[in-house]
Amino acid sequence: MRAFLKLLFRNRLAGVGAVVLTIIVLLALLTPILPLHPPNETNTANRFLRPLAEGHLLGTDHLGRDLLSRLLWGTRLSLAVGFAAAVIAAVIGAAIGIIAGYAGGRTDNVTMRGVDMLMAFPYILLALAIVAVLGPGLMNALIAVAVVNIPFFARNIRGITVGIAHKEFVDAARLAGMGHLRILTTEVLPNVVPVIVIAMSTTVGWMILETAGLSFLGLGSQPPRADLGSMLGEARSAMITAPHTSLVPGAMILLIVMSITLLGDGVRDALDPRLKSGALSRPLPATVVERDHVPATRGAGLLDIQNLETQFQVGKRVYRAVNDVSLTLEPGECLGIIGESGSGKSVTALSVMGLVASPPGVITGGAVRYRGDDLIGAKYERLRSLRGDRIAYIFQDPLATLHPLYRVGDQLAEAIRSHHAVSQREARRRAIALLKDVRIPNAENRLRSYPHELSGGMRQRVGIAMALANEPDIIIADEPTTALDVTVQAQILALLDDLRRERGLAILFITHDFGVVGQLCDRVAVMYAGRMVEEGPTEAVLRAPAHPYTARLIACVPELGEGRREMAAIPGLPPAVDDLPPGCAFAPRCDKATDACRSGEIVLEGRGARKVRCIHPEQSLEKTA
Ligand code: ADP
Ligand code: MG
Repeated sequence: MRAFLKLLFRNRLAGVGAVVLTIIVLLALLTPILPLHPPNETNTANRFLRPLAEGHLLGTDHLGRDLLSRLLWGTRLSLAVGFAAAVIAAVIGAAIGIIAGYAGGRTDNVTMRGVDMLMAFPYILLALAIVAVLGPGLMNALIAVAVVNIPFFARNIRGITVGIAHKEFVDAARLAGMGHLRILTTEVLPNVVPVIVIAMSTTVGWMILETAGLSFLGLGSQPPRADLGSMLGEARSAMITAPHTSLVPGAMILLIVMSITLLGDGVRDALDPRLKSGALSRPLPATVVERDHVPATRGAGLLDIQNLETQFQVGKRVYRAVNDVSLTLEPGECLGIIGESGSGKSVTALSVMGLVASPPGVITGGAVRYRGDDLIGAKYERLRSLRGDRIAYIFQDPLATLHPLYRVGDQLAEAIRSHHAVSQREARRRAIALLKDVRIPNAENRLRSYPHELSGGMRQRVGIAMALANEPDIIIADEPTTALDVTVQAQILALLDDLRRERGLAILFITHDFGVVGQLCDRVAVMYAGRMVEEGPTEAVLRAPAHPYTARLIACVPELGEGRREMAAIPGLPPAVDDLPPGCAFAPRCDKATDACRSGEIVLEGRGARKVRCIHPEQSLEKTA
């Protein structure tokens, strides 16, 4: 709640709205105990007194009634009617929307067409028609205003519910044997409540205006009782001679509606989960860099990552997602990065091109040199011209990375044309060639397919084709086969391997599967809790792992035809990266750990290409090198 208020008041206008509205509501609540004239007491001798007249702070109206008293009582009535109408409309509208959206099919069709019919009328006309049938009176005005606003809620909430009703967690609840009512109340409702609150906060103002409108026309509150609308209506005839009688209720309506609208806007923003997480702005185009020194250049490779440090700074917590990672990549080489989920592989890969979302991501140290140029802290224009052109990415889920509404051919052409000024026809020709390169049969026809028309393996091939579109030097593949089944995975790996040989591509291949590393990578780096714990040629590391963590990871890979072997899961969980233990982060899960492992800094030491960060390695590197 405090966090919510803090977010709300960060928006100045919403804060002003909240303060004004609070004062008005307090005044309305306190009206009965304030020392006011009775609102309906007439005194024709004192008609149309000006404001600040003795005993009448805001003057009097055409019957000599005290305007201040009538204003406060009227405000009380208008607020009560407006809020009541909003609650009624929200409850009934949301119920209709949830049921229609959840039930789907004919129920949905029939109710929504009914709602559409209501919506087809201009709503003030509809409200007039309803009051005409029910007869004038405040209660009937309330009903009319509530009814004309039901469709708005029903439509909004139905839309949200349709999206939720087919989510996996609802299916899971169904499979768990929950009844419809239970699912609606425990699974669906909590997800739509914020939307209902937002819709209400932005429409209460309207409903107060609409009620005032009906009262102004004489169809709402009946004399002598006044609400703001009827006060305005009665003052209409004296608009020129005694303008204050209409200005007073008019100003109050303005204040109420404006403060509610400003507050409603603020509430909507504050309830937005992206804002709640502290990220008030959209992610910046490149990761923020805050490093105090740049490491000295060493022998240039194609890509040289040196002592990279990337953190997430969320409030007071600092998540050290990547900590002192150094890697090099030569042309035509495939380097594997392996580690459990959460070990910092993706953050390492994204840091290369400044793609880690900021806030909260910050690169706090190190350098990433592409052909000798440091990319960390490079100008955004420089990064943009390299992204997708010289260094391309392939991500895990191609369905999420391809745009669902464009044909794959157009997306490929766009990837080319965003870096090279070529004609539409030339881009199309290249797109066909690319699809052929990634072994998609019938490429000309496939150009016209939408992503959902392709199978998972086919989509990932399109993802690879997009990465290849500008003939990059480096492809960074972040678990590109994790979402695929094993046969398709084997095909994709074979394809990447061929492409690498044909084109001299360098590949940074991220995976959590040693089997995949064994098939594709020349060298492998093992990551644990944001640090590299071992590095070396794939074959040597697989044959004789030096770090106990690597050994345990390899032991987790089942081997076919090797008979029954006990599968050794690694006990325990990786540590949280905002609270790393001193010494070796793996020590709590390692059966060789000694006291020395739990203190100080353990360095990455090596012989030639092999390096390990461990004081009790499984084997000494001299023997295996
Ligand atoms: P993986 O090795 O599975 O690809 P990641 O590189 O995605 O792991 O994540 C590394 C660490 O960074 C994880 O421990 C995760 O908790 C942390 N992390 C990632 N994104 C954020 C974020 N936006 N805020 C805080 N921590 C994050
Ligand atoms: Mg990842």
